[in-house]
Amino acid sequence: MEQPLHVAPGRDIHLADFDPDFHDGLDRDQAEAETRRHCEKLDELAYRLFAEAKRAVVVVLQGIDTSGKDGTIRMLASGISPQCLDVKSFKAPSALELSHDFLWRVHAAIPAHGRIGIFNRSHYEDVVVVRVRKLVPQPVWQERYAQINAFEKLLHDGGLTFVKCFLHIGKKEQRQRLEDRLRDPKKQWKLGPDDLEDRKRWDEFQKAYDDALTLCNTDYAPWHIVPADKKWYRNLVVARLVRETLERLEPRFPPFDPSLIAKLDSNASPHRPHGSM
Ligand code: AMP
Ligand code: MG
Repeated sequence: MEQPLHVAPGRDIHLADFDPDFHDGLDRDQAEAETRRHCEKLDELAYRLFAEAKRAVVVVLQGIDTSGKDGTIRMLASGISPQCLDVKSFKAPSALELSHDFLWRVHAAIPAHGRIGIFNRSHYEDVVVVRVRKLVPQPVWQERYAQINAFEKLLHDGGLTFVKCFLHIGKKEQRQRLEDRLRDPKKQWKLGPDDLEDRKRWDEFQKAYDDALTLCNTDYAPWHIVPADKKWYRNLVVARLVRETLERLEPRFPPFDPSLIAKLDSNASPHRPHGSM
């Protein structure tokens, strides 16, 4: 059975229709080998984008707690030179951030031309967690879908390409991952009472995501629903998406200026011996 990664803009998205355990008949070894191949290619493409310095890419990672955002970042960062990469995590907004519009902190984190940004959470928290935890009134978050679309259009027109990935895990898988975290001394710190509270509102989160994915799925910044119960399949899908995106952009090294060769050996800049001033 096939499962689409992307839904045409304008059509309703219901996460319940997507199998989080889908892995396209692949096994772990096959998927990991393919992911490595994509990562090798990614490194070269990212370097070209960096040298060209005219356009940027941002990978937006959204998903409920334990959906694998950190692991996905580790995988992408293993394939791309750090000098080409900006990783930004969005936490609950600070007092300063709350004293601005909700997109202010996001705009400030948009990668400069030549760079690849990875967002661990994003402005989508402002229509998901904010909605579920009722942090602002409904008329405020309701307006935000259109505001997000206008913001993403502005950035797209300025040379930014979005790769928006929703990491889709199932409720049972989340239960397992939460338990693993609670029992692992190296991972316990990742969990707080809020995370366990959020799990109780599973259905509300899924509904909030259905709306965000449906209403902010545009031609210029489409969503991808990444099956993420299998970490190795999730990595493969994201690595492939980022590679394909960069390949479509065809970043090019700037043209070579042959006059530089002549300058290398000419004595164009006069050499002044010491004491000649
Ligand atoms: P983590 O990603 O596990 O480090 O947690 C970050 C927390 O910050 C999550 O509980 C997010 O839901 C929360 N968060 C991120 N952005 C916002 C926002 N705009 N408003 C409220 N909470 C947010
Ligand atoms: Mg958390």
